[in-house]
Amino acid sequence: MAPITLERPVSRAAGQRPKSRAPRLTAMSALFFGMHAAALVAIFLVPFAWKWVGLAMATYSVRMFAITAGFHRYFSHRTYRLGRVSQFLMAFLAEMSAQKGVLWWAANHREHHRHSDEIDDHHSPLHDGFWWSHVGWILSDEYDEVDESVVADLAKFPEIRFLSRHHWIPPLVLAVSLFLSGGWPAFVWGFLVSTVVLYHCTFTINSLAHLFGSRRYPTADGSRNNWLLAVITFGEGWHNNHHHYPYACRQGVKWWEYDLTFYVLKLLSFVGVVKALFCPFWLARPPARPLARLPARLPACPPIVVMSRIAIIGSGIAGLASAYLLSRRHDVTLFEREPRLGGHTHTQEVEGPEGPLAVDTGFIVHNEVNYPLLSRLLRELNIPTAASDMSFGVSSGAGGLTWCSRGINGIFAQRKNLLRPAFYSLLREIGRFNDTAHRLLEEPEADAWTLGTWLGRERFSADFREHYLVPMAASVWSTAPREMMKFPAATLVRFFRNHGFLGARTQHKWRTIAGGCSRYIEPMVRAFRERVHLGKPVKRVERTAAEVTVRVEGMPAMVFEEVVFACHGDEVVPMLAEPSQAEREVFKAFTTSRNEAVLHTDVSILPKKRRAWASWNHLRTGGSDGRPVVTYHMNRLQPLAAKTDWLVSLNAGGLVKEDRVARRMVYHHPLFTMEAIKAQARWQDVSGRNRTHYCGAYWGYGFHEDGLRSAVRVAQRMGIEW
Ligand SMILES: Cc1cc2nc3c(=O)[nH]c(=O)nc-3n(C[C@H](O)[C@H](O)[C@H](O)COP(=O)(O)OP(=O)(O)OC[C@H]3O[C@@H](n4cnc5c(N)ncnc54)[C@H](O)[C@@H]3O)c2cc1C
Repeated sequence: MAPITLERPVSRAAGQRPKSRAPRLTAMSALFFGMHAAALVAIFLVPFAWKWVGLAMATYSVRMFAITAGFHRYFSHRTYRLGRVSQFLMAFLAEMSAQKGVLWWAANHREHHRHSDEIDDHHSPLHDGFWWSHVGWILSDEYDEVDESVVADLAKFPEIRFLSRHHWIPPLVLAVSLFLSGGWPAFVWGFLVSTVVLYHCTFTINSLAHLFGSRRYPTADGSRNNWLLAVITFGEGWHNNHHHYPYACRQGVKWWEYDLTFYVLKLLSFVGVVKALFCPFWLARPPARPLARLPARLPACPPIVVMSRIAIIGSGIAGLASAYLLSRRHDVTLFEREPRLGGHTHTQEVEGPEGPLAVDTGFIVHNEVNYPLLSRLLRELNIPTAASDMSFGVSSGAGGLTWCSRGINGIFAQRKNLLRPAFYSLLREIGRFNDTAHRLLEEPEADAWTLGTWLGRERFSADFREHYLVPMAASVWSTAPREMMKFPAATLVRFFRNHGFLGARTQHKWRTIAGGCSRYIEPMVRAFRERVHLGKPVKRVERTAAEVTVRVEGMPAMVFEEVVFACHGDEVVPMLAEPSQAEREVFKAFTTSRNEAVLHTDVSILPKKRRAWASWNHLRTGGSDGRPVVTYHMNRLQPLAAKTDWLVSLNAGGLVKEDRVARRMVYHHPLFTMEAIKAQARWQDVSGRNRTHYCGAYWGYGFHEDGLRSAVRVAQRMGIEW
């Protein structure tokens, strides 16, 4: 059992430790050493009897169980369910150990898992040595503050907050009770001695269990399995197992890996105190041979929830939603290539003349009718929404045709159009399209027609294509106009009809997320925050019949039972070590268009006349690669309470003045083609096979609801109903 050394760079941040690790004398350390001294002296002052040793062992056992079952497996990792009263009692018992408050314990432990043995770990023996990891970090006041956002799921209970704030009450109750019932010997052995021993046995898990023992799983840290520590801590010594399966209630993996805490929890589940135990799939496997000596009538089977270890690649809405849903029953780890979460959900914080603003630059709008799942999710997460303005305008550059959908004033924003018969023809054609487009869906061959074919058959004019339909569709799908001609016609009409785009009176009430759409991200990852890896691109995924190995840049290989690809379709195959024939065929059909987005305040990109400004402004010329420029007027669309006009332009090339640019971004948008539609129908051929699952907006129209729906489908396939 040799100590291990780190061979790899493990810095998450810039590599500098934020604060000094030198031990300091604090009130906590004075109390801690005072208790040691008092225990040492007092055992010679009080009369000795074996019953006092027995009492010390009893108070040690109850409190060790409460630490491992309560502080650790319940409050830090939520590996089983308790009712509210039992939860309170468990917190009370655990706080009798005099190891600070329940919120402090859980928050620090979650942070430990987030950075385990990285430079930001609060107590890594590999970085800071034995002393600091064992006790130095607790005695310092460096980590006294509790970041409640890390434990928001616990902090919502007022009684837990109370206990945490007044964490001196439970140990005082224990000490006084012992004194009143057995005098000084009971106090010395049952409290002082027992508490000091309990301290050091608990702390060995932070120190020794990262130094000595064996490693069954190649976790990204130095965690080890150590049978001796497992004995004294009632199962916590199977620490490498635990870092591999942090959400598993049971930490012993083999039958002989003694885990007293789990056995007691299992017993408690038989009497209904524990409501559900979360266990990895290996625990739920039926025994190889039936146990002949089992009594015929067994007590009611406690609910064991089967868990898998799942890797999720990508943190757009599809990855976030699958992680959010799967984490209810499984142990999820999320990998994101970028240093931030959200993918196309990207709110930028900017400083305007009126103060700080949160401006959306990717996903912006939704409505209750077409986005039922997203609306439900936002309600569930308690995220407020705001009404949006979805007006649309087209401009052809200097002197060209310009109009927008904001009433008569906007339609005739160019007054000369009042006298142009061609403009009235265009308006008539828009009316004809709105009234008759639905007939396409009754045509038997409709699904085979591209937009170009259908517009030709219906004899829609070039004006109608260039000044209405193509700008609108190209803006919706962030796609080049020439690509739009290859777009499936029936899909476009179905989409326009469902989204209320066929006429002014059919419009739905569009909404945005108040304060920026990134607001929904944090509550979605709260339950597994310590298992989120940012700035970690997955390079390779190797699959066998038994497991999935995920190789990530800058991390050791990690092993999972399942993997969910929540990136774009064209990113999948390069990551797969051995893609199946079906995977090769399906994913080659999915492509994306590259969109440069710029957040800026240069209104010269909008039509000269303000009455022609809409929320979505399509400029037909001058963009990068000859593509149209779409500019969202965020004050109107989001809406923003600012006098300065904030704009997000896609593919604006050099049209935006550099000194007006606040941020630049690149987004790849799924291209919706005939091939993609055919490939979507083959989801079952690739997803749910070979321990691999696929989601992403590219499995639908390419919008936010599609990303969410695809994630719900994956979650349902893995047993989560939502
Ligand atoms: C500018 C813009 C505006 C939009 N506006 C709207 C709108 O208003 N309403 C609407 O409904 N839709 C809108 N959309 C479309 C919609 O938001 C997106 O299509 C949808 O959000 C995509 O979600 P996703 O999860 O499939 O993909 P993404 O959000 O793109 O997420 C994929 C994630 O996977 C990560 N990833 C890829 N490869 C790896 C790897 N190897 N390792 C780790 N991570 C990896 C990426 O970094 C990314 O974060 C807009 C899109 C754009 C570009």
